[in-house]
Amino acid sequence: MPELPEVETVRRGLAPVLEGRTLTKVVLRRPDLRFPLPPHFAESLEGARVETLARRAKYLVAELDTGVRWIAHLGMTGRFSVIGANTAQPGAFYYAAPPDPAHTHIIIETDAGIRLEYNDPRRFGYMDALPPGAFDAHPFFKDLGPEPLSPAFNAAQLAAALKGKKTPIKAALLDQRVVAGLGNIYVCEALFRAGVSPKRPAGRVAPARLAGLVDAIRAVLEEAIEAGGSSLRDYAAADGALGYFQHRFSVYDRAGTPCPRPGCAGAVRRIPQGGRSSFYCPACQR
Ligand code: ZN
Repeated sequence: MPELPEVETVRRGLAPVLEGRTLTKVVLRRPDLRFPLPPHFAESLEGARVETLARRAKYLVAELDTGVRWIAHLGMTGRFSVIGANTAQPGAFYYAAPPDPAHTHIIIETDAGIRLEYNDPRRFGYMDALPPGAFDAHPFFKDLGPEPLSPAFNAAQLAAALKGKKTPIKAALLDQRVVAGLGNIYVCEALFRAGVSPKRPAGRVAPARLAGLVDAIRAVLEEAIEAGGSSLRDYAAADGALGYFQHRFSVYDRAGTPCPRPGCAGAVRRIPQGGRSSFYCPACQR
């Protein structure tokens, strides 16, 4: 499943394709993805110009000049392929063809002659076209916490959000109201880097350690974005390049291997937490 760094990688790949361009044609090859597409979806996008392509948590959010926001979430297996010549920036894009055209569900063309194909074999993805003013009140967005890479996410905010919480810090960091967009992989990695046990009650992480945790969360996300995002499934970045970060995980999916922290003689352990696997080193994460 794509996590925040992969979505950010896709955003960076798609932004030069979409920003400033008018969407000339929208073809839906089926009426739904994870949810039914709204009946006005194609009409809301066609003829509109994309002002910016942003990201909120793991959602791509295109702000259109009509005030409509075009939302896309990649679900488990969603990906965009960019196809066609770009006369403005020759050679700027990798012209990836979708792996299996039978799973191409939505096709969007721009006035630059680019065709964007959304391909999603398992169809857990989501798209919507929200009318002007509807974004902030939408149930998917209204309760989201701060973006982890923004200044709004910091030790003071995190301390306030976790105050008195007895749930494990691992579960608290996956709570999208505490911080937006973090998933299992990067929470495991950040807790390892900060030396915090995933089992520690969230309200009992000392302030100085919370500051270290904030830094660790930012660092693991930024390094993953830098590396082009990870690829654990049949997933490719918008430019067609497969991600390649997974071999650099310190603890995620590495149960039984020696702890990579210098001087630590422990081994990585896998434990179930909230229906998912946590990976950590019991010797150096407290
Ligand atoms: Zn260790």
